[in-house]
Amino acid sequence: MLYLDHAATTPLRPEVREAMEPYLGVRFGNPSGIHATARRAKNSIEEARERIAASIGATNRLEIVFTGGGTEADNLAVIGAAIGAPGGVVTTAVEHPAVLESARFLDRMGHDVAIVSVDGDGSVAPDEIANAVDEGTAIVSVMMANNETGVIQPVAEVARLVRSAGDRVLVHTDAVQAFGSLAVEAYLGGPDLISVSAHKIGGPQGVGFLYVRDGARLEPVIHGGGQELGRRSGTHNVAAIVGLAAAVESTVEGRSDYRDQVGAARDRFERDLRSRVNVIVTADTADRIVSHSHLRFPGIPAETLLVRLDFVGVAAAAGAACHSGAIQESHVLAAMGIDGTAASESVRFSFGRDDDAETGAEAARVVSGVVEDLV
Ligand code: PLP
Repeated sequence: MLYLDHAATTPLRPEVREAMEPYLGVRFGNPSGIHATARRAKNSIEEARERIAASIGATNRLEIVFTGGGTEADNLAVIGAAIGAPGGVVTTAVEHPAVLESARFLDRMGHDVAIVSVDGDGSVAPDEIANAVDEGTAIVSVMMANNETGVIQPVAEVARLVRSAGDRVLVHTDAVQAFGSLAVEAYLGGPDLISVSAHKIGGPQGVGFLYVRDGARLEPVIHGGGQELGRRSGTHNVAAIVGLAAAVESTVEGRSDYRDQVGAARDRFERDLRSRVNVIVTADTADRIVSHSHLRFPGIPAETLLVRLDFVGVAAAAGAACHSGAIQESHVLAAMGIDGTAASESVRFSFGRDDDAETGAEAARVVSGVVEDLV
């Protein structure tokens, strides 16, 4: 089995599972209560918050808001900021649906929404973002790295330009795909809001956090018992939050090795494939995170290739967005000017933390074998 779909989700890391286990048994408890069992759960949540804040270089642990994953963090950032101001949204055409659909919802609610296009490599120009910002803008949202292509956006420069126009506008970045390989802490001082999801970094599914710079004004989107200082109501998932903290710490500690090792896997994969079959690497010249390899094999429909790869034990994804098992046209590729046949022949391979150059070589051997059979 060659699992090359880490951009979709990653296996739970052993140290994360170990950290979570007591909370699935004896260390149960609702952190909102007042008795000893509840207090222990509350302490575990606050300790997790502290450790995450320290790992990403946040100045204050209360800048970490736990959410039910990356989608929810994105919704809280974009909708929360736009309603909180109130004001409009500026974002890009290649964002994850968690951001784009939040923007579309705001549009239906009467907020101004500007969607800035990207170049052929999928990169957005910071000055185009800055030009789209006006006196009514509440929030700018530009992802750190794209989930389909892995292309890294110039987020620090976007934040600098937007900030220079005044600190009224909040800057959000979706770091869900980038967190494994890029130092989010380097961006503190940049974006006011950063979304992270546990299951892309060896943590459990359904939990994440939004970094909210001290003083950034957000209206909650989930209302109820007032947990997370009223910013996200709902009983805490203690085990998942403890797992998230373990995954964040482990990811930050291992990031430099990850870049070397996973980068070697991806580079070897692409190099070996190129020497054997006809393949086009999407956004080849752009700055990409090391895990992603978005490829087109001309003449081979992605669906056919994915089914054949699955037969031989290789898990990969359609280059186009894949929801509920159905391949849909990718808004990311369309925004880059890749559509029709080219888009339908695109496949995404994504490597994970245990992969290395050997994995890349093995993957290239198996994938090129299948491709040669199909041409
Ligand atoms: N943002 C990006 C860039 C993603 O890739 C994903 C997941 O694929 C999400 C947000 C959503 O995160 P979650 O699955 O935790 O809701």
